[in-house]
Amino acid sequence: MSSIFTKIINREIPSEIVYEEDNIIVIKDINPRSKTHLLIIPKKEIETIDDLEESDRNLIADMFFVAKKVASDLGLTNAYQLHFNVWKEWHQEVMHIHMHLTSDK
Ligand code: 5GP
Repeated sequence: MSSIFTKIINREIPSEIVYEEDNIIVIKDINPRSKTHLLIIPKKEIETIDDLEESDRNLIADMFFVAKKVASDLGLTNAYQLHFNVWKEWHQEVMHIHMHLTSDK
């Protein structure tokens, strides 16, 4: 079954898309916990960080570069946090890896 993020990527569910490139999409979190709360999501469906494979190295690096670009585009430079939750025992609610980008700016 597709994850909710795959459904968003495939436009089966609406979301506020902030940025998109071939392998990654950035959306606004539906339940923001700070003034800016974005999710940087690889289009490849990977359940958790523990499921990463060697072949995912470039994809994960790309997520950080997308975070940097989006933060810069939004004027958040020097004032944001990036984090991943890993597994349900540590707050991961959607089993499709995603990086949170939060800022009070
Ligand atoms: P997690 O707890 O898995 O690290 O984070 C999942 C995040 O996805 C949560 O912050 C939650 O608010 C967000 N989220 C869950 N479902 C949707 C959705 O349908 N659309 C959007 N934009 N965000 C969602």
